[in-house]
Amino acid sequence: MNALRSTVKPAPAPALDVERIRADFPILKLRVNDHPLVFVDNAASSQMPQQVIDRWVKYQTSEHANIHRAVHYLSETATAEYEIARRKVQAFVNAKEDREIIFTSGTTEAINLVMHGYGRKFIGRDDEIILTTLEHHSNIVPWQMLAEEKGAKIRVVPVNDRGELLIDEYRKLFNSRTRFVGVMHVSNALGTINPIREMIAIAHGHGVPVLVDGAQAAPHMSIDVQDLDCDFYAFSGHKMCGPTGIGVLYGKADLLERMQPYKGGGDMILSVTFEKTTYAPIPAKFEAGTPPIAAAITLGAAIDYLNAVGMDRIAAHETDLLDYATDQVHRMPGVRIIGTAEKKAAVLSFVVDGVHPHDVGTLLNEDGVAIRTGHHCAQPVMQRFGIPATSRASFAFYNTMAEVDALVASIRNVQKVFL
Ligand code: PLP
Repeated sequence: MNALRSTVKPAPAPALDVERIRADFPILKLRVNDHPLVFVDNAASSQMPQQVIDRWVKYQTSEHANIHRAVHYLSETATAEYEIARRKVQAFVNAKEDREIIFTSGTTEAINLVMHGYGRKFIGRDDEIILTTLEHHSNIVPWQMLAEEKGAKIRVVPVNDRGELLIDEYRKLFNSRTRFVGVMHVSNALGTINPIREMIAIAHGHGVPVLVDGAQAAPHMSIDVQDLDCDFYAFSGHKMCGPTGIGVLYGKADLLERMQPYKGGGDMILSVTFEKTTYAPIPAKFEAGTPPIAAAITLGAAIDYLNAVGMDRIAAHETDLLDYATDQVHRMPGVRIIGTAEKKAAVLSFVVDGVHPHDVGTLLNEDGVAIRTGHHCAQPVMQRFGIPATSRASFAFYNTMAEVDALVASIRNVQKVFL
């Protein structure tokens, strides 16, 4: 257990006061096309409360300087705040040590870091990497690039018709050439919560490390990397009420230490001569150049905000929203839900018969309802379900049941226009 986390199991938390929470989010007061904004595109990027915006402004107006470099007041303040943010992230995911937290620009960069730092060093010709059908392109393309460079192979875990990974098939994919597993915690396209704890244990039984893409999990549920025993865990600030341009790679210290740096430059070295460079210890080894200081500190404030609301209460409210929305959409003739896993996070993907998802999105926007349409950077999932795209509503803790009603009413309007 991390010292910053309580070891006492808290009493069940009372339900969220959503109206009170919404008052913190200036953007939610917007009207779009003469309707109140209904923002249900949170899987793409979530919104920022005033407290987090204020932290950004405070940094820019009274703390900004480059870090780790100078002895003057502002540099020391910025450095201290940046490292405090790292410790907030450490506590948020219950990492054992703060040096296991690397700031990146987002999930995509975190995965690329592992591909370059671990993959290029430890994966070779005829070695095998296991991914899943559900993966976001950011957990497919880097591994394909590696496979092409090294002559390695990618093996893919299939899903059933509900969008759940077939764990028996996963087990069968392991052999003496398996070197790495990449799996997402929660599917951005379908909402499936994958059994990653079990999958990690299976991989470890074969001595294989696992990277978890947590982009869609970290904003919605409590994460404990020590309990999961994952080797790497990646997520993005902008999906969890933080700013764009910041993300996190958690990695076990012994693995990070054995990896090669991904980018070379200032701040990641101990000494440089033209003959030889020696690298700084982790995490600096992986944070070459001036990092996104303001964004990292602001992510720390976003974590404070989420903690104050309570991750368990967030998860419970979002489950209520998903259940209510699923029930309503399920009853609509001519609308099909894609992704009906038993364990789901607050993502509702659907297709309206006879209407292209882009038209659904355009018409919903006329009612002020913001959803995402397309392949969600997960084309293999779309291919698995034989569709080019879906419409996707994705909820956050600041969404309301009334917004679900507005979403459903707007989908009905689409059907009236087209059918
Ligand atoms: N992985 C998943 C599951 C995602 O949903 C996303 C973004 O939608 C990413 C990775 C990429 O995140 P980013 O664009 O912040 O790097």
